[in-house]
Amino acid sequence: MADYYEILEVTHEATDTEIKKSYRRLAVKYHPDKNPGDKSAEEHFKEISHAYEILGNPEKRQLYDQYGEAAFTNGGMGGGGMDPFDLFREAFGGMGGGIFDSFFGGQSRRSDPNGPVDGSDLRYNLEITFEEAVFGADRTIEFQRMSACEVCSGSGCEPGTSRKRCPRCGGSGQIGMSQGFFTIMHECPNCHGAGVMAEKPCRQCGGSGQRKVKRTVQVHIPPGVDTGTRMRVAGEGEPGLRGGRNGDLFVITHVREHEIFQRDGLSVYCSVPIDFPTAALGGTVDVPTVTGKTSLEIPAGTQTGDVFTIRGKGMPSLRGQGRGDHYVKVFVEVPKKLSDEQRNALKHYSETFQSKGNGGSHPVRENFLEKAKRFFQIGA
Ligand SMILES: [Zn+2]
Ligand SMILES: [Zn+2]
Repeated sequence: MADYYEILEVTHEATDTEIKKSYRRLAVKYHPDKNPGDKSAEEHFKEISHAYEILGNPEKRQLYDQYGEAAFTNGGMGGGGMDPFDLFREAFGGMGGGIFDSFFGGQSRRSDPNGPVDGSDLRYNLEITFEEAVFGADRTIEFQRMSACEVCSGSGCEPGTSRKRCPRCGGSGQIGMSQGFFTIMHECPNCHGAGVMAEKPCRQCGGSGQRKVKRTVQVHIPPGVDTGTRMRVAGEGEPGLRGGRNGDLFVITHVREHEIFQRDGLSVYCSVPIDFPTAALGGTVDVPTVTGKTSLEIPAGTQTGDVFTIRGKGMPSLRGQGRGDHYVKVFVEVPKKLSDEQRNALKHYSETFQSKGNGGSHPVRENFLEKAKRFFQIGA
C-alpha cells in the first residue's frame, strides 16, 4: 500500500493544518457524489479517507511514523477504521453543512436526512352548488392518502431488522450527475435522500413505511364560500416520517354556476325581464334574491339596462357579520305575440305620438335623430 503522505499529497514535514487542507481538497475531488459510477475514484476516496484518519490524528500519525502501516493492521490499534463518509462530514463539520453544497453546486441538503420530516399537505377540489355556497353545507368527502404501515410502524423494515447505509449514494442521500462542466446533485432514487434504507424491506409496504388508505372526512362549508376558498382540515394530509407532523388537507371549493344569479364576491347580480307597460307606467315586481323573494319598485320610465340595488340581500360574509348587496338589472321585453285587440291598442297608442308630435316623450330617440340630421347636412 502506498505511503499515507503520498496519498494525501503532503510531505512528511506537513503541519496538521496542511494535512487537513489537502485532505479536504482531495476528498471533494474524489467523493463518489462527484464521480458517480467511477469505481477507481471511489477506491481512491477510501484511501484518502483512511490516510487522513491516521495522519489527521497526532497520536496515530506518530505511531505511523514509527511503525508504518503495521501499527494499524492486525493486532495494532485502530483496526477497522472510521467510515469514510463520517470522516468526510466530520472534516467539513466545522465549516457548516452548506460547504458540501457550494462545492458540488447541488441543491440544499436536508440538515438531517434521518430526522423528522413533516408530511405533505393535500388538496381536494370540492364542487358545490350555488345554494351550498349561500347557505353552507356539511359534506362528506372521500379520498386516498398515505398512512404509516401497521406491520413495520412506518420504519419500512421487516420486523426484527434495522436500517443500513444506502449502497447507491454511500449515505449522502444524493447522487451527482454530470451535465457538462457542472455536477448536478439529485436525490438518491434508492433511499429517496435518506442515505439509509431498510436492511430487509417490510413485506407489507415494500420498505416505504407507508401504505395507501381510504379516508372519509366531514367538511363543514360555511355560508359565503366562493370558488377558490380554502378550508383547512388539520392533520389529514400525508403522514409525517420519523416523528414529523402530519400535513393538512386543504379543501378548495368550486362553486357551480347558477341559472339566474351571478356573483362577484359578496355582490349578487340578476337580470329581470319586465313588460313595457310596467317600464312605462311604473309598478312593483317580485324579484328573487339569495335571501328569498322580495318586491322591487319600478319607477315610471324605466329603461332596459337600468340597475336597482337592494341593500343587504347579497352573499353572506365568510367573516360572519353582514351581507353584500343584490343588483337587479332590468330589461324590457317586447311582446312576441299580439292579439288583434292588443295590436289595435298599440296602433292607437302610436298614433297619439304622431298627432301630438314627440314633445320630449322619447328624449334619447329625439337626441339621436337630431345628431343624425346634422350628419346628413354636413355630408350633403
Ligand atoms: Zn411496512
Ligand atoms: Zn441512497
